[in-house]
Parts: sequence; structure tokens; C-alpha cells
Amino acid sequence: MMIPQYQDTVVALSTAPGLGAIAVLRISGKDSFSLADAVFSKSLLDKESHTAHFGRIKDGDRVLDEVVVVLFKGPNSYTGEDTVEISCHGSVYIQEQLLELFIRGGARMAKPGEFSMRAFLNGKMDLSQAEAVNDLIEAQGDAAHELALNQMRGGFGKEIAVLRDELIHFASLIELELDFAEEDVVFANRTDLSDLVNALQKKLKRLVDSFATGNVIRNGVPVAIIGRPNAGKSTLLNAFLNEERAIVSAIAGTTRDTIEDVISIAGIQFRFIDTAGIRDTVDEIEAIGVKRSLEKASEARIIIYLYDHKNTTSEEVEFDLNLLRENSKSEILVVANKIDEGQNVQLPAEQLQISAKEKRGIEELQDALSSTILKNNSLDSGNTIVSNARHYEALTGALKSLDEVLTGISSDISGDFLAIDIRRALHFLGEITGEITTDDLLGNIFGKFCIGK
Ligand code: GDP
Repeated sequence: MMIPQYQDTVVALSTAPGLGAIAVLRISGKDSFSLADAVFSKSLLDKESHTAHFGRIKDGDRVLDEVVVVLFKGPNSYTGEDTVEISCHGSVYIQEQLLELFIRGGARMAKPGEFSMRAFLNGKMDLSQAEAVNDLIEAQGDAAHELALNQMRGGFGKEIAVLRDELIHFASLIELELDFAEEDVVFANRTDLSDLVNALQKKLKRLVDSFATGNVIRNGVPVAIIGRPNAGKSTLLNAFLNEERAIVSAIAGTTRDTIEDVISIAGIQFRFIDTAGIRDTVDEIEAIGVKRSLEKASEARIIIYLYDHKNTTSEEVEFDLNLLRENSKSEILVVANKIDEGQNVQLPAEQLQISAKEKRGIEELQDALSSTILKNNSLDSGNTIVSNARHYEALTGALKSLDEVLTGISSDISGDFLAIDIRRALHFLGEITGEITTDDLLGNIFGKFCIGK
């Protein structure tokens, strides 16, 4: 599938804009070798693919820079087309001059994500892999990096393609029946079909469920520490942030102008929300009149409910927990603080007990945070975790269409209606890997990429 508008030759800077030690310029398309050859001090046209050449680039008689040119002959390149990568000195002036030189020579400035889009259109990767390239570049933290890398290697796309193939087989059998409608024959055994649909649904459901994990791994997990005044919330926050193995950073909140404290546990980023509120200490359950704590609770994926185990009655704890449960779907970790002031023998053994002040139990609490997120989803490469909202929607759509197939089978509807529902499920699955695309969809996906990707 080659769309005419992508048959020309494009150029862009592939390194970040601005000053750097070196910059890399990428040219891709059928004229890329000749464009580079025309301005390079040595002949490039007779050179092998995957070779590097040192020389000067000239604009007429004027030497612009000394560079290294690397040649990739299609289809053995990122885009699948002839590609030239030029490493030049990273001055903004040189970068601009070189870009201009190639555009004058006949190349067009690449659109955002166009190199990856070409790679997709040329069959070098499926759509989910191309999207993973972007995720990989943007990944913060080990876990997000691992997810993107797995997806880029294509495991997810392959899994979907296998499911799709099985379904296509049945769709064609049913459509064959339609051709023989007069004869009233059945090619597609309905029991086999429902067995297949059930099996597919099970696999799809696992993928859909994994999004809860994948999404937070990609975007960070919002955590709220909630408790009555003096429970030790700010002490706990400090204990987290001072933990040696935690990577501490402060990022400006995207939605509000607050500072969010972020720690990384098992490669996952946990964002403590409204930590300014904790430091104010004016809010919280008793004083709060509830409102502020509950707002915070509703934003959190995990609530750490912290209480001073010596100065809080079990009725008070129950009261607070009920309030939280009524107002939020977050998972709640109940944590007894200040155990340095003496163990409380009445506490259930499985309840987390810490001393924020003496940093006791902090590791166990961190483990509890990460296992709340990972649950059964280990990050091993064999285990696909969906982290892309577009994929999640397509999978949900496919599941729904398969529900309709099952309803159809059990109510014995005619083959043509069954075929429609199966085709719809196929459509959703095809959207993930890119067998089914529209210009809008591609524009949407690749438009989010940087220029040069
Ligand atoms: P917040 O109002 O919930 O933020 O509570 P703070 O973190 O400000 O702590 C209230 C008081 O409890 C301070 O005097 C802390 O030093 C003390 N505190 C916090 N954690 C512990 C702990 O684990 N053990 C003891 N003994 N005191 C603690």
C-alpha cells in the first residue's frame, strides 16, 4: 500500500532541535542517494548499503561542514526506502543550512512522524509497533520503557493478528454459506464457532484488563496519602522521598499549578497528589468536613489511609474507611503508623504497620504499592500489557461485537447477520495493527510524533 503523496523524498532533523555536539539529518525516499551524492565531496552512488563515509558537504563552492554520511539501501532501512543519515556538527546554523540545501535540491520537509508512517506503509512494522516507537521515546521509568520495547518488537501485534486470522477463517466459511443460500448448507459449525468466540473473548478480556496496569505504567500512578491530622502523613511522604532507592523528582503538575512528588518503585512511577495539601495540614478527614480529602481520594488510583494506631479508635478507622470507600473506587492500603511507640497487639497481622519517623516498614509499604499495580501482570516479555488508549478502545469494541456474535448464535440468527458481527469484530482488531486504516486515523497517530521520527 503506497499512497502517492508519500512517494517523494523527505528530509528532517532527527535529533532534538537546538545546539548539540552533533546533529543527525535524515533523508528518505527514492532520490535520497542522489540528493546526498550531489553535494558530497565523494561519490556515494557506487557505495554499498550500511556503510559510513566521511567527507565535506558543499553548497556550490562553499564548504558547509565535515560530516559522516551513512547509507541504507531500501528495503533494509527504518522506512523501507533508500535512506541517508548525515551526522553533522550540531550548530543550529549548520543544521538549517543543510536542511535548506536538501530542500533546494528537491526534498520536502518531512511531516511529524512521517518516517515512521512510511515505515508502516512499507510494511516494516505494524501500526502498534509504530506507535510503540513514540512510546519508547517518551517512556519515563523502567516499566514504561519495558512495555514500549515489547510492543515495538511486535509481540502485541502478532497476538492480535493470530486472533484475527482464526476469526477470518470462520467469517469466510459463513460467507460461503451465503453463496449457497438456496441449498441451506452449513459450513461453519456453530458449536465450533461459539467455542472459538469464547476462547477469543477470554484472550481479549485479558488484554482489556491489562490496560488498567498498562495505562498507569505509562502515565504514572496517582497516590493520595489521607488520614487525620497528626497521623504522620507529611512524615511518611518525606520518608518516601528520602528513601535511597527511590528516584525523587519534582515535576510541575500538568493539570494544576502544583508540584507533584514522584517516586519510582519497581520501575513504576508513583505520583503523590496534592502533597502541598498534606504539608498545609489544615484539611483531612476530621477537620475537612471531608471535602478536600475526598476530592483527592477520587483522583487517586491508590489511597494510603494512614492512622496513628495509639490515638485512633477502631471505630474512627472504620468510619474513615467507610467514607473513603463510599467516595472512591481507589484501592485503599490501610497503614498503622507510629509503631515505634509500641506494638498494637490488636491489629490484624496482615495490616501494614510502619514508623514513618524511624522509617520502619517503608519498604514493605512500597512493595504493597507496586504489587497493587502489577497484581498478576508481571512485566516479563511473554506477557502482553496494553498501554495505549486507542488499542484499549478497539479491543473493547471487538469484545462487544463478539458478544453479539454469541447472542446471534444462541438465537440462531441467519448467517448474513452473523457475518456482519464477525466482520465488525475483525474491523476493530484490524485497526490495532493497521490492516484497517483511514487517513484520519493515521494522521491522528503520526501527527502526535515529532518531526524527524
Ligand atoms: P500529618 O498532620 O498527618 O502530616 O502528621 P505529621 O507528619 O506532621 O506528624 C505529626 C506528628 O507525629 C509529628 O510530631 C511527627 O514527628 C510525629 N510522627 C509522625 N510519624 C511518626 C512515627 O512513626 N512515630 C512517632 N513516634 N511519631 C511520628
